[in-house]
Amino acid sequence: MSINIVKPELLAPAGNFEKLQAALIYGADAVYFGGKNFSLRAFGDNFTREEILKAVEFTHGLGKKIYAAVNIFAHNADLDALADYLKFLARAGVDAVLISDLGVLSLAKELTDLKIHVSTQANVTNWRSAKFFHELGAERIVLARELTREEILDIKSNCKAEVEIFIHGAMCISYSGRCWLSKFLTGRDANLGACTHSCRWKYNLVEETRAGEYFSVGEDNRGSYVMNSKDLCLLPCLDKVIQSGVASLKIEGRMKSVNYVASVVKVYREAIDSYFDNPNDFVIRAEWLDELNKIAHRPYTTGFFMSDGNPTEIYDTSKPARSSDFFGIIREFDSQTMTATIEQRGKFETGERVEFFQPHEETFSQSITSMCDEDGQEILSAPHAQQIVKISVDKPVEIWSLMRSGDYGR
Ligand code: SF4
Repeated sequence: MSINIVKPELLAPAGNFEKLQAALIYGADAVYFGGKNFSLRAFGDNFTREEILKAVEFTHGLGKKIYAAVNIFAHNADLDALADYLKFLARAGVDAVLISDLGVLSLAKELTDLKIHVSTQANVTNWRSAKFFHELGAERIVLARELTREEILDIKSNCKAEVEIFIHGAMCISYSGRCWLSKFLTGRDANLGACTHSCRWKYNLVEETRAGEYFSVGEDNRGSYVMNSKDLCLLPCLDKVIQSGVASLKIEGRMKSVNYVASVVKVYREAIDSYFDNPNDFVIRAEWLDELNKIAHRPYTTGFFMSDGNPTEIYDTSKPARSSDFFGIIREFDSQTMTATIEQRGKFETGERVEFFQPHEETFSQSITSMCDEDGQEILSAPHAQQIVKISVDKPVEIWSLMRSGDYGR
């Protein structure tokens, strides 16, 4: 089979500078971030102006791209500060801004020559919307998650804008940006980045004169998480995603851990490269799926993309599951003494079986036989957050590798 599809960009979330570094080092082609204001992740570790300059320099130094999310729905009072911020982003050299509000789009057009990507918050679900945004000056449209493959193909063939779709991460039960559940129940507005994820909560029905008497509204006796969506994972149909010819494949999760970002990016990096190396013999490797199961996640679904009728909600629990614990990041490796220096992120102990997940090399496992603290004092456990710990390793290990619980390959 000859293929003339251009390799899509792999786009990863950068919740802070460390996650941005991890995303790019583990293989993302581009990252997206939010500033302290005007992006829909109010409780994210968003970037200051100084950090934005540092992030642009780091990203461009690797020959990769960086996009700024400016996707709030602005009120009149926001406009002056937004104008100033957009001009700053243009001076900083970001490669595009993600916008959902038409007022913000018009400001960006009027004041800057920034490239504009229309955020998924704008809910583009048909080719006329996509074409209209393109005519307004948007170079790329991030489509709504609620589209089938056929609908995406139809939009692509009727609109010349680049198309970006989500391939992995959490889903809303409502259209993104059209949910008032959190605002209604808690006062925290999802449309200003403060969602409490109220759709994940357990619900019962109460008749107003019978306070305290709860009537189950669940499907069965396991519970009633009737609005709790599974997580999106398009890895099982990645060949069809690539064949749809979209320009960019986006991973959700600016609020998620560095372990999540690194793991998901590496899996999709390998899978995309493997497809383009040999599209005829492309298979989904079991180890990729295993990897995605190690990070915290809800059961996976291919969502609307495959329109296969499989349920997209979880009814038995709202808690995410994971099969591996994240212990720390390798900051240094001494090949003379075969010692790795680890910045701790989760408690671990001598005797623990761990695996090293590396940016480029294969994962390997070993037991921790001994470890010491920063001052060389022997210790039996590493309980303190961000504690620096040195351990002996059986093999050379790359800087930025992740140490986690597990026994790779067994
Ligand atoms: S409450 Fe749920 S559906 Fe609504 S915005 Fe938050 S995560 Fe999305």
